[in-house]
Amino acid sequence: MSGTFYNEIERIRSGTHARIDLGAYASNIRVLRSIVGPGVALMAVVKADGYGHGAVESGRVAIEAGARMLGVARIQEARYLRRAELNCQIVVIGPPTINEIRHAIEQDITLSIGSVQALDGVLANVGEGRVATVHLEVDTGMNRYGFAPEDVVGVIDMISGHTSVTVEGVYTHFSSADETDPAPTTAQIDRFRTVVDELTARGLRPPFVHTGNSAAVLTERVDGTNLVRCGIATYGLSPSDEVTVDERFQPVMSVRSVVARRGVLRSGEGVSYGLTYRAEEDEHVAAVPVGYADGLPRRLRNQGWFVVDGTRAPIRGSVCMDQTVVSVPDGAREGDEVIVLGNGSSGEMTFDSIAGMIGTVNYEVATRVMARVPRLYLRAGAPVAWERVLTGERGRIDD
Ligand SMILES: *Cc1c(COP(=O)(O)O)cnc(C)c1O
Repeated sequence: MSGTFYNEIERIRSGTHARIDLGAYASNIRVLRSIVGPGVALMAVVKADGYGHGAVESGRVAIEAGARMLGVARIQEARYLRRAELNCQIVVIGPPTINEIRHAIEQDITLSIGSVQALDGVLANVGEGRVATVHLEVDTGMNRYGFAPEDVVGVIDMISGHTSVTVEGVYTHFSSADETDPAPTTAQIDRFRTVVDELTARGLRPPFVHTGNSAAVLTERVDGTNLVRCGIATYGLSPSDEVTVDERFQPVMSVRSVVARRGVLRSGEGVSYGLTYRAEEDEHVAAVPVGYADGLPRRLRNQGWFVVDGTRAPIRGSVCMDQTVVSVPDGAREGDEVIVLGNGSSGEMTFDSIAGMIGTVNYEVATRVMARVPRLYLRAGAPVAWERVLTGERGRIDD
């Protein structure tokens, strides 16, 4: 089998692909666990296909590295992980799709409920031997999803009359934990604490009480809770410019491609759609098969760069759907490796620098890495797994 494995690795390496350093990811998980301490469990959030990093492999490694459970945003994402034989606890944090609740309960997927409709949906789909585990979201100020604080005791009291529903957790989500000003977070903590105190006084306190995302953990604003939900920091990325990961965290993904064609752009000639760049003198250019449909933002037109042969290769003209042209050093050859983005150690763009250039957050840039970019998973620099999301194929070295 391993011959087939390495052949596939070579095929993936010869085109545009993402490299995921699972060792770095596992290390980030361990750093987060050491920050919160042994009394606090970690939910590794792998929604949006692991923030573009691949939820199946990330999820598997997170559990190995000590995460207690995985978090996703949609029931469909949880089912995708189940189909890949992840049998750990998976929590859908966020509104469940009502008509999928039955599927979730059948596959032992933990649901969040934060609306009357979701509560009714769960109650309508349990019974007949099916048991649902739920976490209740409380809206303490984000004003997005969750029960109003004053309704929580009544809801949990009502559910406790149903033996087929277990309330395993109660939680809230912060609107501004990634900002330096602690005031909005403190206000949310106070409202949440009032709810938890009342549940405790009535003997209704669920086993898990949680608030913290990555930013709240990094700023140590998770007192009084025993579970944290971390996504962005597990991938070695900072929640914001104000709340950043320190040097213990390592970025996990890089995107590589190859020079597909090398040519010369003659002085005065334009390049790519709209000919928005014109050469002032002859220059060597390379077509690279990566474009906005792979997740490279189109706004990087004439702005971003790749790294080819250890040298910065500026983007010339428009980023196309499937290709981008860059200016390359004289020595660049067809088939040469191109670093599209990574941890910046070779001078390449990072998720943060791209986010800064196009006016968004690193979360959005990472989750844009599209399904058609095959992924190579590495440990200590050696490939251990691959995945082609588009064709549903994957391989692991120990298969
Ligand atoms: C996405 C999400 C998280 C994880 O947030 P990070 O900033 O990536 O750590 C935690 N909780 C909820 C409810 C979320 O939606």
